[in-house]
Amino acid sequence: MFDVIVLGGGPAGVTAALRARELGAQVALVERGVLGGTCTNDGCVPTRVLAKAARLMRDTESYAQYGLTGERPTLDFARLLGRTQDIIYGIHEKKQLLDHLGDAGVEVFTKSGSASFIDAHRLKLSASDDVLEGDKFIICVGGHARRLPFPGAELTLTHSDVWSLQKLPRRVAVVGAAATGCQLASIFNDFGSEVTLLELAPRILPGEDSAVSAVVAESFRRHGQQVLTGIGGVESITQANGTLHLHYKHDDAVQTLEVDAVVLAVGWPGNIEALQLENAGVKTERGYVQVDDALRSSAPNIYAAGDITGRMMLVQSASLDARIAAENAVLGSSESYQHRIVPHGGFTDPEYGSVGLTEEQARAQEAVHVAVVQYDETDRAIIDGHTEGLCKLIVSQKTQQVIGAHVVGEQALEVIQMVAAGMASGITVQTLANLELAYPTYAAIVGLAARRILRDTGAAEPAAQWRNLSRRVTVEWERRGRD
Ligand SMILES: Cc1cc2nc3c(=O)[nH]c(=O)nc-3n(C[C@H](O)[C@H](O)[C@H](O)COP(=O)(O)OP(=O)(O)OC[C@H]3O[C@@H](n4cnc5c(N)ncnc54)[C@H](O)[C@@H]3O)c2cc1C
Repeated sequence: MFDVIVLGGGPAGVTAALRARELGAQVALVERGVLGGTCTNDGCVPTRVLAKAARLMRDTESYAQYGLTGERPTLDFARLLGRTQDIIYGIHEKKQLLDHLGDAGVEVFTKSGSASFIDAHRLKLSASDDVLEGDKFIICVGGHARRLPFPGAELTLTHSDVWSLQKLPRRVAVVGAAATGCQLASIFNDFGSEVTLLELAPRILPGEDSAVSAVVAESFRRHGQQVLTGIGGVESITQANGTLHLHYKHDDAVQTLEVDAVVLAVGWPGNIEALQLENAGVKTERGYVQVDDALRSSAPNIYAAGDITGRMMLVQSASLDARIAAENAVLGSSESYQHRIVPHGGFTDPEYGSVGLTEEQARAQEAVHVAVVQYDETDRAIIDGHTEGLCKLIVSQKTQQVIGAHVVGEQALEVIQMVAAGMASGITVQTLANLELAYPTYAAIVGLAARRILRDTGAAEPAAQWRNLSRRVTVEWERRGRD
């Protein structure tokens, strides 16, 4: 009998098991396949490797501007996929999860096959028919790419199939323009495929601030992608002579696209099917395990963390929830947490990063100040030739605190981390405006945005003569003429 049995060996499961063990519990971890989860084996790591290669490809366009001459490199796709697997292996080598868990005293069952509940205290492992008994359970089994039930859906790929493609498809349709779809579309485009990105919502990245969607969509189009938003849905896919015909609804008519590959990126439901949760009294909701803010399921001894809860499907959030779930399970506490300040984004070209409320959400909630600064207002963007992008900063009028930031452009995710750290400690726009951010950096754009808010709101009140100048002049070292 274990004190705690953790299901799933991704970021949530590994963190939950280690924390429960650290608190003195006897812990087992059950993983149907290999440790590492979607994050290492099938998601963040391989996507990031391809994004890096895509970036290198795009960078070659500017070599000549920096005096670098010679043949432009071409892509060896098979070699890149080999490199992707090598890096996944390298991450496993670095982490040594099996040894690490073993050294910590966690009993690990890998390649267990799907685990399923016999009742609220017993778990069956399908590969061996072993039955494990536990006092508490933490379900961390993640999710999977949704498949759609239209005719010909079997001809489609998901992101998981991309890592083993035989060759780079010349023409690709990516269905679904949230984070995964946009990243894949961007990568294929940089590799030279003809890409069509299709999305039901009126804009790509529909969960992000509208400014982020607009800049990314505009850039995609400028680099040759076809971006189709507001489609009525995919009707079917047929195949003739090796070409796929993707039939989709747009403006009440059925349109057809001819492509070599269709990649679906249309959602991420939880891996609930195999678990037989009803045997343990665990309720589900919209395809995820239903939990409260203390990560408790409807069964008193069963907790869940990570993607399987459908709360916030990111590695950092999975790990944090897992720590809290483990503490509550072992200590009997009911610490609760809501994900409010979560820096996140995508490695598209250009990259984007966001934290806090979008402008629309913020305005629906309270009166706000908003400033938008274009990337080409910073010296660093000019130096590097990465002038595309913007930073939007959203500040509460009442508290003067930063409540949202959205950045598109070079190193956007790194920039947004800094704002997130400030937000977590309640930073005001005045403090941000006076922060001596290093020069020349991309992050300095946040300081520019903060000072713009102070100027626009009269907090940095200029003298009358200055106000009456024929054109606006700002007191900024990093300024662009004729704002
Ligand atoms: C293409 C892509 C790119 C992504 N990029 C990023 C990124 O850049 N940054 C980021 O933060 N997030 C990213 N994500 C999301 C991130 O991968 C997930 O949020 C994270 O892996 C969730 O961790 P988890 O432990 O909850 O689930 P997972 O990592 O999915 O782990 C779940 C584990 O449970 C196992 N399992 C499933 N069912 C059972 C069962 N019945 N019995 C036993 N074991 C079972 C699975 O085999 C798996 O190993 C990306 C996702 C995708 C798909």
